[in-house]
Amino acid sequence: MPSEPETPSPASNPEPHRFPCAQCGASLEYAPGTELLRCGHCGHENRIAGFAAPILEQDFRQTLRALATTTATRDNIAIHCDSCGASYTFDAATHAGQCAFCGVPVVAKTERHRQLQVQALLPFQISRDQARSAFRRWLGGLWFAPGMLKDYARNDARLAGMYVPYWTYDADTTTAYRGERGDNYQVQESYRAIENGREVERVRVVTRIRWTPAAGVVSRFFDDVLVLASGSLPRAVTERLEPWDLANLTPYREEYLSGFQSEMYTVDLEQGFERARERMAPIIRRDVERAIGGDHQRIHALDTRHGEIRFKHVLLPVWLSAFRFRDRTYRFVVNGRTGEVQGERPYSAWKIALAILLAALLIGGSLAAWQHFSAAQHRPVLDSRPYYGWIPAGNRSILARLT
Ligand SMILES: [Zn+2]
Ligand SMILES: [Zn+2]
Repeated sequence: MPSEPETPSPASNPEPHRFPCAQCGASLEYAPGTELLRCGHCGHENRIAGFAAPILEQDFRQTLRALATTTATRDNIAIHCDSCGASYTFDAATHAGQCAFCGVPVVAKTERHRQLQVQALLPFQISRDQARSAFRRWLGGLWFAPGMLKDYARNDARLAGMYVPYWTYDADTTTAYRGERGDNYQVQESYRAIENGREVERVRVVTRIRWTPAAGVVSRFFDDVLVLASGSLPRAVTERLEPWDLANLTPYREEYLSGFQSEMYTVDLEQGFERARERMAPIIRRDVERAIGGDHQRIHALDTRHGEIRFKHVLLPVWLSAFRFRDRTYRFVVNGRTGEVQGERPYSAWKIALAILLAALLIGGSLAAWQHFSAAQHRPVLDSRPYYGWIPAGNRSILARLT
């Protein structure tokens, strides 16, 4: 049974609600990995009341029609970045400062947003401290990173706990195809060759392909095809954070956002579905190739109908840091569920140059050593002093001084 389309709601992603501590009045914040809100000031804890409401998927086409006819808007205080296009919730700690997504300075301003309700989210599992040490480990494993980058990470203060917007789509697809099936067959072929200066006739077996027309219909149900609903993080980075444990999606509750920020979607429901189609297409092609069968397949035409499209708007947790280095933005993200790190990184040109030089020295050195040892086989070794012949001549005097 399709559920009623959600009227584009004015109530999504409002300025985050405050949850005052019953003991001291400070703000309670969601404690990653728990079902608790915790006071950072006095340690008082509040359990988040769970509810068993199912997470309903919405009908895609009905919702698009509803969106076209309503004008529900709401004034949100949001941080909007003109440089990368991200809009995300205002957080008392970041009135102004650097954009969490691209590192360029931004200020908070009031924006109008027409947004669909968030239906579900995956709460943070990884704490800020865990995220920071995951980031440091990742940096430690990077070769050729500029020293400045490592200093930045050591002193890094800006690690934003961000709920990033996603769409998930379900679709029942039916695809009519037309193409050709290729079957291998062997034939004997005679050819002329020169043997012992004489021309002779020989026979060989060659493989040929017999093409026959093929047509038919394949169908597949797609469940929860995930699409990032914003352009502020590079897709190459976010897709490497997959898979997400979507089976553990929790119905949306504002408590989980307390102490965190959330980004508003900028890829709308319809654009998101285009991306979902792109993600489905190669899977459908493989189905068609399998249906055509044979040893080779050619596809001339595909016509896919996406019936019964349903969607969810969900938020997924990432720890995020963006920094500027030599006029470029580099971003790294930590999966807020698993602690896995993905990122973009600068290279240090001089560290690479040094490594190439060292490698050249080593190769040159081992050549010299080999020459020496093959020569040494033919004469008795009387001298017990260390032998530096493998070191290029220019460096020998330095070593001699050191030993
Ligand atoms: Zn308190
Ligand atoms: Zn930005």
